[in-house]
Order: sequence, then structure tokens, then C-alpha cells
Amino acid sequence: LLGEVTKEGQKIERPAFGQGQYTHTKNKKYDYLIVGCGFAGSVLAERLATQHGARVLMIDKRDHVAGNAYDEYDKNGILYHKYGPHIFHANSDEIVSYLSQFTQWRPYEHRVLANVRDQQVPIPINRTTLNMLFNAGLKTDEDAAAFLAARAEPVADIKTSEDVVVNAVGRELYELFFQGYTRKQWGLDPSELDKLVTARIPTRTNTDDRYFTDKHQIMPLEGYTRMFERMLDHPLIDKSLGTDFRDVRNEIDAAHIIYTGPIDEYFDWRFGKLPYRSLRFVHSTIDKEWFQEVGTVNYPSTDIPYTRISEYKHLTGQQHPRTSITLEYPSAEGDPYYPIPRPENQALFKRYEALADSTAGVTFVGRLATYRYYNMDQIVGQALATFRRMDEVRTRTGAS
Ligand code: FAD
Repeated sequence: LLGEVTKEGQKIERPAFGQGQYTHTKNKKYDYLIVGCGFAGSVLAERLATQHGARVLMIDKRDHVAGNAYDEYDKNGILYHKYGPHIFHANSDEIVSYLSQFTQWRPYEHRVLANVRDQQVPIPINRTTLNMLFNAGLKTDEDAAAFLAARAEPVADIKTSEDVVVNAVGRELYELFFQGYTRKQWGLDPSELDKLVTARIPTRTNTDDRYFTDKHQIMPLEGYTRMFERMLDHPLIDKSLGTDFRDVRNEIDAAHIIYTGPIDEYFDWRFGKLPYRSLRFVHSTIDKEWFQEVGTVNYPSTDIPYTRISEYKHLTGQQHPRTSITLEYPSAEGDPYYPIPRPENQALFKRYEALADSTAGVTFVGRLATYRYYNMDQIVGQALATFRRMDEVRTRTGAS
């Protein structure tokens, strides 16, 4: 325990915020080994420990909990998100009420501006965007709909991301907002990407400038890491951070594995590597109170190497005389962040999925194990549904 003195006479110091707990002992028996302390692994650990009284060991190769949602205070005392801005939004009351056991919330509606033609205009495109860019004088939803309809270039058979956008708003807006951004983000032209990538992006005829329209738009009051710490603060949950599954898979005595890491890695990449797009985050503190007007500003132009800049104080509500920002530089190398949505990659994933389905004693859950981009609320939903299925099996088989 923290503050105690070990047999070797070393005092266990308080680890850095959310980091460094190493509580498992080699010879202990566990009901579950959970690989990955992100939302998927942590929700399942909490449910299994509190509802089934299961003994759980969680490991993560990073030295902290919370997965990609990890936040910490930088050296200037400003809360920032190490793996890029994470904004919580959800429609499900069940998911929010589940997480509310571990955190209070602050209301936050995310707004994004796009830097185009030397202006910063709302994105998703709305009536204000059109009026600012084209001096269009559009007053009603109908005006804006007619304006967009006149620019749209109907595509008979919509297949790619380019088709989706050109069909909805025409080539000029496509080039301004989507083409460069997508090329930078994915390293591919929208014409080479599945239509699903841009199909999610709405165009509005009203003046709603919120990035999301979900029922719940909230941020954990003391940050994500604190929420995870409370979720995992249970005597039946041991944690071993800075521990790679590949190094300990034969050492740990657990009846069942819950695996939230990359599915191809679990099977030693036997069919080949599943392609991901990565990001390089450049975090910095600026010596003034505010840097930009909103939480995120997008930079769609290919003349600028980063895709967006986010400023955390908008998200967290923290008051501080200085401010912290993150620039995101897309890259082919690095941590796996976005599965590249192309049919051949999905086909490769299906081969791994079939292997996973026939692997007894292991449950694959989370974004890396299912090779799909999910928001945090969706992963919480996926983990809660996985727990419900485990619960049903336990009831049916009468296991204790
Ligand atoms: P993760 O959080 O990635 O957790 C998996 C964990 O497994 C990691 O900590 C990893 O270190 C660990 N692991 C992997 N392999 C091993 C191994 N071999 N041994 C031990 N541990 C291992 N969602 C939103 O809802 N809103 C947002 O605004 C948002 N913004 C995002 C911005 C970016 C840049 C990215 C990349 C994602 C964003 N997301 C957002 C998505 C969000 O990050 C995911 O939904 C969430 O992190 C998924 O949780 P998870 O547990 O599945 O995966």
C-alpha cells in the first residue's frame, strides 16, 4: 500500500496522478485477467468485482489507467488530455447513470470552427457558415436548403466519401472543408475511402453550431482519470500497470481473459497486420488566458500539417491565467487510433474475428479488439452488454 515500507525497506511513494499502481502478486489466482484499463476493461472489471464478487487482475502496457481517455495536470497545473481531446456525449440515460456512480459532471457543448479562406466558420456546415463564406443573406432553413440544393452535384451511385459530400453540398464546399482534411487525416483521398467516413458528418440548414446533438453533453467534473480511479477502487481489483500482455500471458493464473487490446496482436498477426492511422500530439502551454474562441479549430488546408487545435479549458471549465492546447499531426506510424475503413481491411478483421469466436476462455471487447472506431459511450454500452451476457450465462449455468 502507498506509504508502507516494503520488505526490502523501500517506502512506497504516492505514484503520479493515476499512474504506477502495481498490486498483483505472481502466485495469486484470479477469476479474470483483463487486458487494457480503458473504458472497455474498466467497466467490465467494476461490474465483475462488484456484481459477481470476482477476483480481477487488470493490466495495461501504459503506466496509467483510463486508456485513451487519460487526462492529467501538466507541469503548469492545467488539466489536458494526453491522447487528444475527449468530449463525452451520449443519448443513453443508462450509460450516463452508470458512469454517474463514479463522477459528477459539468455541462459542456462542444463547438468547432474551421479555418477556411482566412475566416473561422462553424463546422458542421450550417446557415451561419454559408452566410459567412458566401455573404448569402440566408434567413430561413428553407433558404439554406435551397442554397445547398443549387450547389449539390447528384451522384447516382454513392460509393466513396467524396461521393457523399459532393452529392450533398457540391464540389466547392467539399474541397474547402473535406478534401484536404481527409487527405491529411487518412493519408488517402476521400475518393479512396469508404462512404461511411463522411456519411456521419451532417450539414445543417439552421444555425445550431453545436458539434454534437446528443441528449447528454457533459464532462466528468474532475476529469476522466479521477472517474476511472473511483471505478476501479475495489478490494477485488488488482492492477498491474506498465505490463504488456505479451510478456506475462503465460505467467498469470486466471480462469478467463477479457482482452481489449488489438485483436491481430493477440493472434501474433498470423494473417497480417490490421492497418491503423495514428496521430502525433503536440501539447503546449500558452502564456495567455485563452488561445482560441472554441474547444477545437479545424485546419482543412493541406498547407498546414496539423488537422486541428484543441484548447482544454473550454472542455474542462478550469480557470487558469495560462492555457493548454494540443495540435494533432496525423501519421502512418504510432499508436493504433483509427482503423482504416476499407473493405479489404474489414475482410482481414473478419478472419481474426472468426478465430476469436473459436477461442475458448477469452472475451474480445473494446475498440481495438473489434477493429472499429467507437465513441466512449458506445464502448461503455458494449462493455455493459458484454457483462449482461456473462451474467445470463452465470445464472443459466448456476455458477457462483
Ligand atoms: P482504449 O481506451 O484504447 O483502451 C485499451 C487499452 O489497452 C489501452 O490503454 C492500451 O494501452 C491497452 N493495451 C493494448 N494492448 C495491450 C497489451 N498488449 N498489453 C496490455 N495492455 C494493452 N470518443 C468520444 O466519445 N469522444 C471524443 O471526443 C473522442 N475523441 C477521440 C479522440 C481521439 C484522438 C481518439 C483516437 C479517440 C477518441 N474517442 C472519443 C474514442 C475513445 O478514445 C474510445 O472510444 C475509447 O478510448 C475506447 O475505449 P477502449 O477501452 O476500447 O480502448
